[in-house]
Amino acid sequence: MKTQILKTDEIQKAADIIKSGGLVAMPTETVYGLAADALNGEAVAKIFKAKGRPMDNPLIVHIADISQLDMLVREVPEKARILAEKFWPGPLTIILPKSDIIPVEVSAGLDTVAVRYPSDTTAQELIRLSCPLAAPSANLSGSPSPTSASHVYDDMCGRIEAVIDGGECKVGVESTVITLAGDVPRLLRPGGVTLEQLRAAIGEVILDSAVLDPLEEGKQAASPGMKYKHYSPKADVKLIKGPEKSFAEYVNSHKEEGAAALCYDEEESILEVPVIKVGSAADQEAQANKLFAALRHADKKGYSILYAHCPEKNGIGLALYNRMIRAAGFEVIELE
Ligand code: AMP
Ligand code: MG
Repeated sequence: MKTQILKTDEIQKAADIIKSGGLVAMPTETVYGLAADALNGEAVAKIFKAKGRPMDNPLIVHIADISQLDMLVREVPEKARILAEKFWPGPLTIILPKSDIIPVEVSAGLDTVAVRYPSDTTAQELIRLSCPLAAPSANLSGSPSPTSASHVYDDMCGRIEAVIDGGECKVGVESTVITLAGDVPRLLRPGGVTLEQLRAAIGEVILDSAVLDPLEEGKQAASPGMKYKHYSPKADVKLIKGPEKSFAEYVNSHKEEGAAALCYDEEESILEVPVIKVGSAADQEAQANKLFAALRHADKKGYSILYAHCPEKNGIGLALYNRMIRAAGFEVIELE
């Protein structure tokens, strides 16, 4: 299959592909999504094949109007209304008990469905010209999520009908995922909408233990995606906690062959290994925006060791920590 690269004024072409049961990668404000008609089980099944995604890992359904939520779920509780009004369109996914029209491929056999209303106008237009779209991140399973059309093309060329080039994603990490299907709201994945913002909007929100720690053996994952290896570059990632000066000293005394550092912009001049800059130390949003491109870049360069700062676990830093701790196999090197 030849993969077309479409411009943002060719969305009708993309909508036609979706309506005929094909796959289109679309830009969103979080990361690029690999979209199919969410109500067409056969089309959705192709997503799993194209990505090499395990069939038991459910997909997020993307809508372009709050009213589309009603047909996808059994009921919309008060807290879901509050979150939708406050954070949609935006990087928040809400899980609710699913309605009967959700194909088993989307929910992966669960009784719930994950729904998001993206703020990216290209994604919105594609949904309006076609239908609600089931879309996971448009990367091959196991590689970092794509934040540009060229990342998608590197992974998906020949596997999907088209990718719409909408430039770089603004947020750069996948959406925040919260489930309202249990007694107390539970954060399953941190993202651009922060835990602090969610608590300010609806009160108590439990942080699922799998956000920060490895899933305990024998325990079932609240979000099936958590049990799979994720966000791992080929290099061995060493996550380092400590002040800037200690970070530099550690890296400079461990400059083995093939070693490089993911560093803050300010640190380039004090490091003696090749660096990939991820934004200013104080700017966590810039770091989120650059993280996945940095990991892909490290892969292309063929580095074997990658030293990185351990992010703070607050604000969007919690999302960075959640991704980086997985890339590092849950190990942190603590410096004085
Ligand atoms: P992605 O694979 O990047 O699209 O991320 C989707 C995430 O949402 C994965 O971690 C899924 O396991 C999770 N997810 C989607 N639907 C559900 C659901 N109904 N219940 C729990 N987690 C879900
Ligand atoms: Mg993904």
